[in-house]
Amino acid sequence: MTTPSKVIAAPDAVAFIGLGQMGLPMARNLAAAGFEVRGYDVTPSARDAYVAAGGQVTQSLQQAVDGAAAAILMLPNGAIVRSLLQDPGVVSAIAAANTLVIDMSSSAPFGTAALGQELAAKAVRLIDAPVSGGVKRAREGKLAIMVGGDDASIDAARHLFEALGNSVFPTGPLGSAHAMKALNNFVSSAGLVAAAEALIIGGRFGLQPEVIVDVLNASSGRNNATEVKMKQFVLSGAYNSGFGLALMSKDVTTAAELSHDLGMKLPSLELMAGLWAQASRTLAGPRDHTEIYRYLEAASGEVADGPSVTAD
Ligand code: NAD
Repeated sequence: MTTPSKVIAAPDAVAFIGLGQMGLPMARNLAAAGFEVRGYDVTPSARDAYVAAGGQVTQSLQQAVDGAAAAILMLPNGAIVRSLLQDPGVVSAIAAANTLVIDMSSSAPFGTAALGQELAAKAVRLIDAPVSGGVKRAREGKLAIMVGGDDASIDAARHLFEALGNSVFPTGPLGSAHAMKALNNFVSSAGLVAAAEALIIGGRFGLQPEVIVDVLNASSGRNNATEVKMKQFVLSGAYNSGFGLALMSKDVTTAAELSHDLGMKLPSLELMAGLWAQASRTLAGPRDHTEIYRYLEAASGEVADGPSVTAD
């Protein structure tokens, strides 16, 4: 049986695990809100970057969670979250202090639900609270936060969420926020691919890329990619949004697997999952997700067999 916690409030201690592109600014915002943040990351350079930004780190996960009111995980995927929560020393420390575990990574929904059941048997409470908004909104403390789990635990975490985001959407039971996040990123990935392909075709036709983006943004083709990605990260050549291509591929695959687990196969989701997986394999190494444009541009040559004439 798990014990409900009191509301977590500054200056309570919070373990923050995963100090990457998103985790670092999120941990900073919690510290700025008065929480005693103990950062931990398996990668020494990530720990060093957080220290350089004024944060405090521990040398082990165990030290980070010992006696903490909450443990926030901001890790690449749910398999890594699960692996960390299988360390017996870590789990008993969490249970002893009645630490609320909050998985803010974009993990797989059924995996999260199963993990929650296993942890509940060990007197550990878990909620899922993935985010949207990217590195920019993480820095600004303006993330959209989806949250799944029991009402008491969600309520206990409300001050943490206030320091990180400007909207909180309860989505239902544990795992439901991870389902919502995967579906959001499917829609986001499809919008980015459509905008990129429109730019590639329009460019070949002779339209100016900036004009294409301006027209889309004033028209019904407008989406998040046309508004905050195309000029900023693609046309500029910067490709530095801070969200990795492999992570986007993982999210779209999670959405496809969710549909399969529900006994469904949707044509455009299947297409999108395959496309992102192929791009991830082709563009080896750490790549920004906006580099899908480069992948599509290269792929566009493979099927070019001259202008087609369509009667209208
Ligand atoms: P990232 O790769 O920059 O950071 C992940 C961090 O986790 C790294 O610093 C890594 O060293 C650390 N890590 C990996 N394994 C670990 C372990 N076993 N123990 C401790 N630390 C470990 O990734 P990110 O972009 O910060 O994304 C984190 C999560 O947030 C992902 O699930 C991602 O899908 C999601 N997300 C990212 C964005 C974005 O714009 N970057 C936006 C929304 C959601």
